[in-house]
Amino acid sequence: VLSLRGIRKSFGDVEVLRGIDLDVRRHEVVALIGASGSGKSTLLRTANLLEPIDDGQVFLSGTDVSDPRVKLDAVRARIGVVFQHYNLFPHLSVLGNVTLAGRTVHRRGKAAAERQALELLDQVGLADKAREFPDRLSGGQQQRVAIVRAIATDPELLLLDEITSALDPELVGEVLELVRTLAQGGSTILMATHEMAFARDVAHRVVFLDGGLIVEQGAPERLLNHPEQERTREFLTRFS
Ligand code: ATP
Ligand code: MG
Repeated sequence: VLSLRGIRKSFGDVEVLRGIDLDVRRHEVVALIGASGSGKSTLLRTANLLEPIDDGQVFLSGTDVSDPRVKLDAVRARIGVVFQHYNLFPHLSVLGNVTLAGRTVHRRGKAAAERQALELLDQVGLADKAREFPDRLSGGQQQRVAIVRAIATDPELLLLDEITSALDPELVGEVLELVRTLAQGGSTILMATHEMAFARDVAHRVVFLDGGLIVEQGAPERLLNHPEQERTREFLTRFS
């Protein structure tokens, strides 16, 4: 679904991504791990074309979407994104948030969009919150709504950037459970995470990023238990 080829990105003098090649296949769940500042968020942003790249190409289902002639909005409409913070529009109800993209980008009718949104909210146990505004929800509920909003347009790819790291510990579980359900349902997911146990459990592949380069990648068990690279080992010892 997603192929990154030779992605380079600098901010000023600092090269944050130094030639990234990464593929995410259909139905695959890939966890991106690495120290703070290693470039995980920047990588996810380049995949969604939120961050202009200096060099390289981004392919989405075979099309080079980094080609300047490609319309950014059309590409972004095919990708669902959830960040760590501030995912919901505070002035819209839960239902308004979830139906917004479907109505504007995909031009669905209001009734159809709301019916589908209510169905999705019901599946994640939030149907009774549909008319509430985001500030009346817990952080965990807000993130679950953000995920529902991201999947409401049936995207080809989901990008999740440390979606639980701003939550109180007791709220992390419900959000991860929802991601697990999506993974089991066949969603294609690229997620940056510090939740190693979750990565081990749910991801098909773990990618370790350090200093803007992919140092090592592989099956979760192999990479997390038997890292081949010294830098991976050092990073992981800080989590055990
Ligand atoms: P964290 O685990 O803390 O989220 P990360 O791996 O997501 O870290 P990035 O946010 O991708 O790391 O940042 C990588 C580097 O790029 C950092 O040194 C950061 O300061 C720098 N950086 C990111 N965005 C910008 C920006 N808009 N302008 C300047 N520098 C930036
Ligand atoms: Mg980040």
